[in-house]
Amino acid sequence: MPVYRADLHIHTDGPFEDDGRICRGLDPLDAGSLIASSNLDVVAITNHGQTKPDAFFPVKNAVAAHDSFRRPNRERLIFLGVEMQLVIEEGRFNVGYVFEKPYHHGNWPEFPAKGAPISELEQYKKEYPGVAILNHPHSRGYDSEIIHTAIQHPLIDGVEIMNASQVMDSDPRRLKNAWEDLTLEAAIKGQKSPIGGSGLHDASGHLIGNVYTTFTALHPVVIFHAIRNCTTQALCADPIRDRLSLPHDY
Ligand SMILES: [Zn+2]
Repeated sequence: MPVYRADLHIHTDGPFEDDGRICRGLDPLDAGSLIASSNLDVVAITNHGQTKPDAFFPVKNAVAAHDSFRRPNRERLIFLGVEMQLVIEEGRFNVGYVFEKPYHHGNWPEFPAKGAPISELEQYKKEYPGVAILNHPHSRGYDSEIIHTAIQHPLIDGVEIMNASQVMDSDPRRLKNAWEDLTLEAAIKGQKSPIGGSGLHDASGHLIGNVYTTFTALHPVVIFHAIRNCTTQALCADPIRDRLSLPHDY
């Protein structure tokens, strides 16, 4: 069975604040060439608290231009997304949202405000179909009860159990968070989709393609169905495996 790789957590605009740190997204054209030279078949552009067309269409166009020349027989899917900050019970979490449908300048999607309760996603998902992924759940240092309550929330479809930027960060607390995220894989089995992504920004361009989510077909229907039905896998390459001390057949 073929395996297609997706990174559903890429930043192409900035600067943005992430857990109290100021980060910068990749330049859209740089992101386009990195994606085009990567092993990824699917990506989602999920900027923090914004869905600017200027940070999306140039990426999509750059990838398409590259692929029509160098990869004419293998399509690559580029989804629009957004990384929201939503409140789930007692915690505030980063929720990646990937839109299922394409949007154009005339019907560009809005999204819930920073700090909105996750319940707003109920109506939102009807207006703008898509999947919600709890990104790097341990990054704010909440205790496990708060994290598990967030994971179990019915409006959450997937959980990012591997985040390349966090794994490779020089701050030991970020690596510890990454380790703890990984422990969630067993807890979510069969209930939420395990997701692997890069959390890509300008300092981590070299990490593209090192952590990914796998799908069995390169079609939006299959991809969104897999996330909603928990049939994805989150996998990683050697540098991530080594840093997390994972066995080589992981
Ligand atoms: Zn992010």
